[in-house]
Amino acid sequence: MTIDASPVSSVPDVGTVRRVAVIGGGASGVLTAINLLARSDDPGLEVVIHEASGVVGRGVAYGTNDQRHLLNVRARHMSALPDSPSDLLDWALRTGRSDDPQGFLPRADFAIYLQDRLTDVADDRLRIQAGRVLDVARADGGFEVRTERSRSHADAVVLCLGNQPPRPLTVDGTPLPDAPWHLANPWDLGRLRTLPSDARVLVVGTALTAIDTAITLLEEGADRHVTMVSRSGRLPKPHVAQQHTAWVTKVPDGPLTADGLAAAVTEECEAARRQGVNWRNVVDGLRPITQDVWQRLTLEERRRFLAVHAREWEVRRHRMAPEVALRLQRYRFEGRLAVETGTLHTVTDLGERCAVSTTPDGASYDVDAIVNCTGPLLDLAATTDQLLAALRERGLVSPDPLALGLATTVDGRLLGADGAVVDGLFTVGPARKGTLWESTAIPEIRAQAAQVAALLSQAVVPA
Ligand SMILES: Cc1cc2nc3c(=O)[nH]c(=O)nc-3n(C[C@H](O)[C@H](O)[C@H](O)COP(=O)(O)OP(=O)(O)OC[C@H]3O[C@@H](n4cnc5c(N)ncnc54)[C@H](O)[C@@H]3O)c2cc1C
Repeated sequence: MTIDASPVSSVPDVGTVRRVAVIGGGASGVLTAINLLARSDDPGLEVVIHEASGVVGRGVAYGTNDQRHLLNVRARHMSALPDSPSDLLDWALRTGRSDDPQGFLPRADFAIYLQDRLTDVADDRLRIQAGRVLDVARADGGFEVRTERSRSHADAVVLCLGNQPPRPLTVDGTPLPDAPWHLANPWDLGRLRTLPSDARVLVVGTALTAIDTAITLLEEGADRHVTMVSRSGRLPKPHVAQQHTAWVTKVPDGPLTADGLAAAVTEECEAARRQGVNWRNVVDGLRPITQDVWQRLTLEERRRFLAVHAREWEVRRHRMAPEVALRLQRYRFEGRLAVETGTLHTVTDLGERCAVSTTPDGASYDVDAIVNCTGPLLDLAATTDQLLAALRERGLVSPDPLALGLATTVDGRLLGADGAVVDGLFTVGPARKGTLWESTAIPEIRAQAAQVAALLSQAVVPA
């Protein structure tokens, strides 16, 4: 299913919307605000972006200040505007950054692009409020949005809370202690950079955040050594430098199972190979129908997919830029990076350092740091986020049945504890993964932002 950004046929019962609170000012929040402002010229509309850090457009993904952290999607697919696919390319060219549509820009540049795009549509209807929202309660036919210092009214609220920090690392169910060697937040580059220039570091995880971590550590300390360890021990596949051929991936009609789906995709890859087409085109060819295919799987089949096929899918779908793959190759050749299979078995606190052993092969490491790169937490039941906990307690949100974010409709309305739509409460971004599966990257987020803005714009009553 590709989300049809406009116009929409069914309007939720959100009454008259004058004031929209967008909670979270990462990519999802900024794109939602851009769409809201661009869609309406009503002078009575007010859009407030609440952003904990006070700086919008960055979030976890684009907040990195390491220029070697690249987008994992080609520039030509990363436009903020669904109906203007070359928008990022035009911006990159105009600002002297790049003229390569196949290239992978630094992620920090993408934050500047989002900020520029927001500035283009911003007028006195937009307000950016610094500070973390701690609670949202129903009030006066809408909501009261509460931060530590303020309370404000909103007719509608869009949660754009994004990527939660990873689930804590544990040994035998006990979380690792808060110790100098334990880096629980992989996106805290400041902390990473304080490690000794000859540090030995164990990175738990082998996906894209683990790779960012290795790059920062190894580029900024020639004598550092990194071991990445994960259950699968598998790195994401690289993009190829040039990828031109398009492939329309077909999935059988009728009842679909996870195993049947995996078999169909394998067959498509084989058919593509026979015609000299790369498997990457088959994976990319699935993108327009992925959300639709996901919804054809029953809950049980989705569970089976997660248990059996998800890792294979992840390493092929979430690929790394070719430049990044070359860096990793170099580190491995230099003997500074190892990638292993395993999970934490024992961790012994040695003060400034720790000793670790992993299963299944009993490997042992004496390291200066362990970095938790196991990926954003999606399980609402395990979150320590104060706002999500408060919303859950109020019955305004409920966990997705597969613990992949929040329970939502396909168009982003939140479902409360009673399973019914909570009028006026929406979400955009990674929290919709359980409903849509593909919901974490810009191509999907920009469509969601446009769709939610369209729903809300229909409820805006001109002054
Ligand atoms: C390391 C990394 C790299 C990625 N690279 C790419 C890529 O190259 N291409 C791509 O398409 N996708 C990429 N993604 C996917 C990414 O999920 C999306 O592209 C996008 O950045 C998600 O934006 P977001 O706003 O939903 O979430 P986030 O970036 O997590 O932003 C959420 C924001 O909300 C704020 N916030 C949270 N709670 C509150 C609160 N209670 N009150 C106020 N503010 C709050 C946070 O401070 C944060 O700024 C990447 C993801 C990660 C983690």
